[in-house]
Amino acid sequence: MKREGIASEERVKGVSRRGFIGGALTALAGAGLTAARPLSGADAWQASPELKIKEYRKLGRTGFRSSDVGFGSGELAEPALLEAILDAGVNYIDTAESYLRGGSERVIGEVLQHRDRKQIFISTKQGMRANVTKDQIIQRANKSLERMKTDYVDCLMMHMPSNREALKNPAYHEAFQELKAQGKVRYRGLSNHGPQWNDVPETMEQVTLAAVEDGRFDVMLFVYNFLKHDQGERILRACREKGVGATLMKTNPVLNYFEMKENFDHAQEAGRNTASMERILPRLKERYDAAQDFIRENDLRNLNQIREAAVRFVLGNPDVSSACLTIKNFDDLEFYLRLSGAKLTAAAQKILDLYAAGMGELYCRHACGECEAACPSQVPVNTIMRYNHYFRAQGREKSAMLKYASLPGSRAGSCADCAGHCEKACPYNVPIQAQLYLAHQTLTLA
Ligand code: SF4
Ligand code: SF4
Repeated sequence: MKREGIASEERVKGVSRRGFIGGALTALAGAGLTAARPLSGADAWQASPELKIKEYRKLGRTGFRSSDVGFGSGELAEPALLEAILDAGVNYIDTAESYLRGGSERVIGEVLQHRDRKQIFISTKQGMRANVTKDQIIQRANKSLERMKTDYVDCLMMHMPSNREALKNPAYHEAFQELKAQGKVRYRGLSNHGPQWNDVPETMEQVTLAAVEDGRFDVMLFVYNFLKHDQGERILRACREKGVGATLMKTNPVLNYFEMKENFDHAQEAGRNTASMERILPRLKERYDAAQDFIRENDLRNLNQIREAAVRFVLGNPDVSSACLTIKNFDDLEFYLRLSGAKLTAAAQKILDLYAAGMGELYCRHACGECEAACPSQVPVNTIMRYNHYFRAQGREKSAMLKYASLPGSRAGSCADCAGHCEKACPYNVPIQAQLYLAHQTLTLA
């Protein structure tokens, strides 16, 4: 497969961070979701009895009782934030060696030093190529332990294997056995959010269900949200039946509408209306305008209300062990703690139904990829839209751009000049062609 020639670091070098963060912050501010308090303002954090975890759930056969609200630490850079998270009773931390290039694990290590290690369940992850060796996995696991300044990690996850065959990788299983014998790991895990771009991509459901059936994996991490729930519900059921811990990511698709709308407006303002864009953007604009009307007519302007309903949806499923939520600041923490123990109410379901009806078609489903086979250029549609989500909704601008720059194979730069085969193949009627083109502009700052 062709790999584009420019080194990934080079592609983002020289980019004004202020420039690209500005766009993302505008999007979040527009959505009313930026932090009112400075992140470093731990002093402003008022711990109170109601700001505690209220429900702990069985993490499959591990026997651990995990907080229903878990912590997805992809952007963790602030020890004070993690201190507050743990003080509130959150006891499930999801991390990876790749998060902030080990930075997330380093912060965890700083905070763990004065904590009762046994009360906290930590899952870390390694991405593994087919030719990885047992020794490399062991070496990388030891590095993770060093960064986290701990003797053991509770779960070592295989990170995003592309297909069922990869689950059998003997290097991982042999490394796990050796690390376990040394007391350095306790459980095997798997994370998956759909097809990666390679020769034999398979769906999240295929890979995750195969891991559940395999019997050696004790904890799963996968996508589940109110707009993408079919696969997740089947996986959750299988996890319950086999005693596997079920942890979640990408639980909140709400910001996708706002992130893309901001992207669209920005492109228009920047006068990037090439002839190709003139051809594809009106389709997207039409849908945005309809969504705006829908928002007004159905009083969906309170985004936190929708966001709350989205969290209630995932926590309302009793088969979920822990939802690993991205907590970027103290406002996020407060918001999610108030929802610990919450159930899905009829009112919340009504809001979600309205949102799905009005904006659902604008969301490229995480862990999908059903349209990719229709693309003659083999563009990894779902992966690109996930990177765009990291940039726009999660504030992970630089890492999203680096990931995009190092994507093997075709990117979305020529999507505007295509006949839009992917869009015609999308069963969810997502206006994906223009979204891909805008995502390319975001991720390259073209
Ligand atoms: S455009 Fe549609 S089919 Fe393609 S990945 Fe997104 S949701 Fe799935
Ligand atoms: S717009 Fe065309 S090139 Fe781009 S992903 Fe879709 S089918 Fe492929």
